[in-house]
Amino acid sequence: MLQLFLPLGSLGIVYRQVKYTLADMDMVFRLLETPQEVRDAPNATELQVTQGEIRFEHVDFGYQAERQILRGVSFSVPAGTKLAVVGHSGAGKSTLSRLIYRFYDVTGGRVLIDGQDIAHVSQASLRKAIGIVPQDTVLFNDTIRYNLQYGNAQATQAEIERAADMAQIRRFIESLPDGWETVVGERGLKLSGGEKQRVAIARAILKQPPILIFDEATSSLDSATEQAIQQTLHEVAGRHTTLMIAHRLSTIVDADRILVLDKGQVVEQGTHAELLALHGQYFAMWELQLHES
Ligand code: ATP
Repeated sequence: MLQLFLPLGSLGIVYRQVKYTLADMDMVFRLLETPQEVRDAPNATELQVTQGEIRFEHVDFGYQAERQILRGVSFSVPAGTKLAVVGHSGAGKSTLSRLIYRFYDVTGGRVLIDGQDIAHVSQASLRKAIGIVPQDTVLFNDTIRYNLQYGNAQATQAEIERAADMAQIRRFIESLPDGWETVVGERGLKLSGGEKQRVAIARAILKQPPILIFDEATSSLDSATEQAIQQTLHEVAGRHTTLMIAHRLSTIVDADRILVLDKGQVVEQGTHAELLALHGQYFAMWELQLHES
């Protein structure tokens, strides 16, 4: 009997270890927001960013095989310019940003950065080149200093403070009883949507990547906070190649180019003035938002 119990007992320990390991892995993947099926190609090269041009060529994509989300999407963002993507809810705007960061692989066509297909480069080299400010930023259960420094592990305290200043979150951090050492995240201090977004902006400032992606939060921030965030984004974007996913058209009138997505297809492209003159879908959205405000 003893012999029978011993192996079963050790099996219990093994089971618990496997379970904890799986739970940790799950946490890691959730934090990285990385679906586990995206893998580096065996002969993946390092992405060489020379200019920072982004190009979509006839891209098709669906989260599930039976439901296509993007259909034949083609556009380019020349190096150092700002492209805004607009369209109704569910059109596929955030999906575009997830494909550039390669959270998912395209099912047709190609996404290129400086002429290199991102499916053929290492994910680490791709992600080093991109700063992303998502709608809802994931924070680590760690100090706010760690959460900011995550953008650039080598950043000095002076650089962190400057980034926090630009992202308009330094005063808030320094007003907390534990200041920079305050633990945030699920098990720490919960930050508001606007505060989390400013942490993400500060991370992007510290990272200084050639490509920036901003996914404007749908949840309404108060207008003073929103204006402050917009102003910061404008300064941070500077001469980086920027893709801005926008819900409020007033925030992107100055974009070099605006792309209108509808049901996963590009239906209009141009500057704000060109699109208004078309009297099409952008014009209709603009009129609607004017009357809403
Ligand atoms: P919004 O303006 O509301 O943020 P969006 O234009 O950014 O919308 P996406 O988030 O790109 O739209 O979503 C496009 C479609 O893909 C939606 O129909 C959505 O339900 C679906 N979708 C998004 N994420 C997933 C996912 N992880 N799994 C399955 N379907 C998804």
